Amino acid sequence: MTEESLMQEAIGEARAALAMEEVPVGCVILHLPTDRIIGRGYNRREKDGDPTAHAEIIALREASAALGHWRLSECTAAVTLEPCPMCAGAMVHVRLARVVFGASDPKAGAAGSALNLLQFPTLNHQCAITSGVREQECRDLLQSFFAKQRAAQKTDEQRKSSGGSFEKN
Ligand code: ZN
Repeated sequence: MTEESLMQEAIGEARAALAMEEVPVGCVILHLPTDRIIGRGYNRREKDGDPTAHAEIIALREASAALGHWRLSECTAAVTLEPCPMCAGAMVHVRLARVVFGASDPKAGAAGSALNLLQFPTLNHQCAITSGVREQECRDLLQSFFAKQRAAQKTDEQRKSSGGSFEKN
């Protein structure tokens, strides 16, 4: 499976998050020897009320369950947004062969933007990295989500301020 088509699958997962009004991030795990996707996940932090329910963690758990062990050294992960430090840490723990991501995250990305945990020299494993795959699609998804959220906040503020003046009258 090409990195492009793998990312297409991850984008599908991100859309599932979007439909649930979660920050749209999706992740899939490819098992290289069989060329099959063995783990899928999308961000469910709000729905689950779980700070660790990032797309990558969910997909890694599913992949480990599918293989029956924690080690994912024969797997590639594709994720729509550059992993955060928590997820990058988990990716090193499971010894992922490669991490493919779409949009980079200059403030919190731990695959080379803000820091590079995936290739941290003193850790006992380094993951190969491919960045910028279907980057624009991944970024558009995130930007449309945040634009919608800002618009909703604005409407809310307008409603509150008009409510306030109504009370004064
Ligand atoms: Zn994360």
